[in-house]
Amino acid sequence: MNYIDLHAHMISRTTDDYEKMALSGCVALTEPAFWAGYDRRSADVFADYFNHLTTFEPARAAQYGIDHYTWLCLNPKEGEDRELARQVLEIIPEFLDRPNVLGIGEIGLNRVTRNELATFKDHVDLAVNHDQTIHIHTPHLEDKYKGTKVIVETLAADSRVDPSRVMVDHAEEHTVGMILGNGFWTGLTLYPVTKTSPGRAVDMIERYGTERICVASACDWGPSDPLAVPRFIMEMRRRGHDEALIRTIVYENPIAFLSQSAHFRQPREQPAVAAAS
Ligand SMILES: [Zn+2]
Repeated sequence: MNYIDLHAHMISRTTDDYEKMALSGCVALTEPAFWAGYDRRSADVFADYFNHLTTFEPARAAQYGIDHYTWLCLNPKEGEDRELARQVLEIIPEFLDRPNVLGIGEIGLNRVTRNELATFKDHVDLAVNHDQTIHIHTPHLEDKYKGTKVIVETLAADSRVDPSRVMVDHAEEHTVGMILGNGFWTGLTLYPVTKTSPGRAVDMIERYGTERICVASACDWGPSDPLAVPRFIMEMRRRGHDEALIRTIVYENPIAFLSQSAHFRQPREQPAVAAAS
């Protein structure tokens, strides 16, 4: 089955991972800007990173027939440094016209501090002023509920923000209702060890339905699986869900959300490479 992975940090993955994703039906993916594994010390380093995300990664993905898109921002962790945030926010508009840029992301909160929230709001201003869609990171573990609530309430109070153009990612059982109930899109990110497993994601789909829900691997530096979406598809089939329903979640929903960005193109559907001829 063809699918779109809505959250994959390919800069941290090998080219073999692109190949495996293509073999398993991935036709497009989106790569939000994130933490590099260390705090970057200047805006120049971000410019290099944004350049990488808009040149090298789409070329690497294209080798395997995968359309690569990206979202730009200074991530929630580094958002604590207000002066760095100011400098990075100044250079982002230079990159927004690049053909694979979908919008601003993944912005959000990490430890839910005052500085992080100020940087988050600056990014929302940037997105609104440039008519960009938004991709949001919600904190993990004990900060998840509190952080998601602050994010949802901040956006809901801002009349300039259209919730149908915002993806609030990393939802879990105790946050998914709050996100969907306020009109946002949501993402269930699948991890092999910690956080949401494919089984838990299917449980949430069975409870909340498929409207405005996407799934993604969120593969990055840590223990994560670039084939998490195909594993979710397998789990859906094992539980007897029909193919049309699965396709809605892994293919049609991402297209519906991403099509709100001027740069998104309808993917070319690819028959499975591994199928016997
Ligand atoms: Zn991420």
